[in-house]
Amino acid sequence: MAQNVNNIKDHVDLFHQPEYQELFENKKQFEGMPDAEKVKEVAEWTKTWEYREKNFAREALTINPAKACQPLGSLLAAVGFEGTLPFVHGSQGCVAYFRTHLTRHFKEPVSAVSSSMTENAAVFGGLRNMVDGLANAYALYKPKMIAICTTCMAEVIGDDLGAFVGNARQDGSIPDDFPVPFAHTPSFVGSHITGYDSMMKSILDTLTEGKKAETTNGKINFIPGFETYIGNLRELKKSSLRLI
Ligand code: SF4
Repeated sequence: MAQNVNNIKDHVDLFHQPEYQELFENKKQFEGMPDAEKVKEVAEWTKTWEYREKNFAREALTINPAKACQPLGSLLAAVGFEGTLPFVHGSQGCVAYFRTHLTRHFKEPVSAVSSSMTENAAVFGGLRNMVDGLANAYALYKPKMIAICTTCMAEVIGDDLGAFVGNARQDGSIPDDFPVPFAHTPSFVGSHITGYDSMMKSILDTLTEGKKAETTNGKINFIPGFETYIGNLRELKKSSLRLI
């Protein structure tokens, strides 16, 4: 086994283990992957003037680039905080899509729960789903924070997250001082980018409430926005350290 509970490896180390290397080799035959020599040849060609001129000669431009829905960005912001459980107020189908998307990309399991809204909730509102869902999620997973976002269905019927979370606290689903940031993230407006920003703002507002001070701790925190390419973050860190 490349890793076990007593020896959890960072994904960079993990994917260099022989089991994964063998897996990647075997995958190539299904993906029609060119051989290493061809990959190297094309990589070299992308550094040439010919390649540069071809790029500058482009005339077509994508005006509306591909976008994903808001809660996806919201989930990504939430999972960046230790012990945080993303909670999607909506149907199971939506959250299954977000989990799959992020799990496929990171090749790591990404946890998220939903309030499992169905036809009843769509007609009568999702308050009960939220109150029960928060109680279950808190008891089962024992998170340090639950970050709630909405989906299209919850937004179309106008569910009010602030009021629902208040009701859930009153009903004893979660303790009074338990942090529950939330963001309204309908997908008929915005995109994964705005979903990330809304959730990040809500988390920061929640965690810093009543703790803002005039003094500084001398640290800078970079918030990269919806950035799923870990190498870019490493590069950002390296470049920043060079500036110090
Ligand atoms: S677009 Fe709306 S309904 Fe579709 S997956 Fe996203 S949140 Fe769910």
